[in-house]
Amino acid sequence: MFDVVVIGQGLSGLLSAISAKEQGFRTALVSIGSGKIIQSTGVMDLIPGSHGGLKEWMEFHQLTVGQKQGAIDAVEQFKELTERLGYPYSGDPEKPVQIVTGAGHVKTTTLYPQTIKPVPERGHVVVVGFQGISDFQPAYVAGNLHKHRPDLIIDTMKISLGKHSQRTMTQLDAARLLDQEEVRNECLTQIKQQLTEKNIRRPSLFIFPASLGIENWRKTVEQFTRELGTAVTEAPGMPPNATAIRLNERLKKQAVRLGIRFYSDTTVTGFKADGQMIQSLMIKTVNQVTELQGKQFVLATGGILGGGLEATPSGLKETALGLKTDEEGALLNCPVNLHPVGAANGLQNTQYGITGGIFSIVSAYQTINQVCQLASVEGGTRSA
Ligand SMILES: Cc1cc2nc3c(=O)[nH]c(=O)nc-3n(C[C@H](O)[C@H](O)[C@H](O)COP(=O)(O)OP(=O)(O)OC[C@H]3O[C@@H](n4cnc5c(N)ncnc54)[C@H](O)[C@@H]3O)c2cc1C
Repeated sequence: MFDVVVIGQGLSGLLSAISAKEQGFRTALVSIGSGKIIQSTGVMDLIPGSHGGLKEWMEFHQLTVGQKQGAIDAVEQFKELTERLGYPYSGDPEKPVQIVTGAGHVKTTTLYPQTIKPVPERGHVVVVGFQGISDFQPAYVAGNLHKHRPDLIIDTMKISLGKHSQRTMTQLDAARLLDQEEVRNECLTQIKQQLTEKNIRRPSLFIFPASLGIENWRKTVEQFTRELGTAVTEAPGMPPNATAIRLNERLKKQAVRLGIRFYSDTTVTGFKADGQMIQSLMIKTVNQVTELQGKQFVLATGGILGGGLEATPSGLKETALGLKTDEEGALLNCPVNLHPVGAANGLQNTQYGITGGIFSIVSAYQTINQVCQLASVEGGTRSA
């Protein structure tokens, strides 16, 4: 019997499970696949595609002024966790920043890893692409960036990472190559050579694809910053982005390290209840269906993109437990020990179909705090 059973391993599910386990609950995580985090840019937005700040975000999610501090505290918890995991996030929900994407557009976001720097209004930037990577074209990035930042001087260059493969390289392939010191050294030699040839002196920022190392991102950023004599940033774009993969890998490793029981490649297909309380989940692997008992359950199955909701001719359907929802996908008559987090809360929390990372973070931490309070009222279920 688990104290907390989390369904789904997107950002919401992983953070819920880690927080529950760190607070002393016997925790299980059941998931059929990866979350959408690995397709994301790895930066945490308030409202995707919007320039709104915390006030607009609270109105969007219909939160009261009294809930503001709880949201800020949850964001701090996430920052503290990423610091401990060796991939720290910066940013303040009250002060959104603008970053450049892999297409050269400027995007407003809130939390970003230390491989990313906000894009300046003016100054001199150099966009550096890698030969063999087709989804980051420096000239295209520069053209779009110029529309957003007409006062920036923008130069471009392309360099070779020295590896030739049969297939087109992804930005993730480049990130893995840059984990190696000799590739970094060769890369810097080429950049310095082109700076001399193009007579470029002291730019204020170098913009790279989201490829500055996976395991050795810190060494890469430090070496590039030191040897180029100025700041460097990644510009995340088409997946896979190293910015997101680094976070996902570190969260999963932490979950395993803490001893969370993983049921991978496992689908939740239903549940057994006693009145309004779920007793157990029906979980299905390739060849068998078994029961998984728990006290509290966290539904982190995502929305339409994550598979937790399905659009049918008769309306939206909640797929894991077969629960009734309203027309926006929010649960109706939710069992008392079931807690939806992140995108599983329904379409009213999405913009352009996407639930922003900040909502996942805040709902995950606040839900687990609520579970803690329930546990203490019940006389302490914590046992891990
Ligand atoms: C293309 C894309 C780009 C994005 N970019 C950004 C961005 O730049 N910034 C930002 O802030 N946010 C971005 N997001 C949103 C963000 O990454 C997450 O999607 C969002 O935070 C919701 O996460 P979640 O954990 O609630 O759900 P999901 O990430 O959808 O996770 C759902 C999980 O539930 C599992 N699951 C579903 N049904 C079952 C079942 N029956 N049994 C077992 N497991 C099940 C799935 O396999 C998955 O693991 C992006 C999303 C997408 C799709």
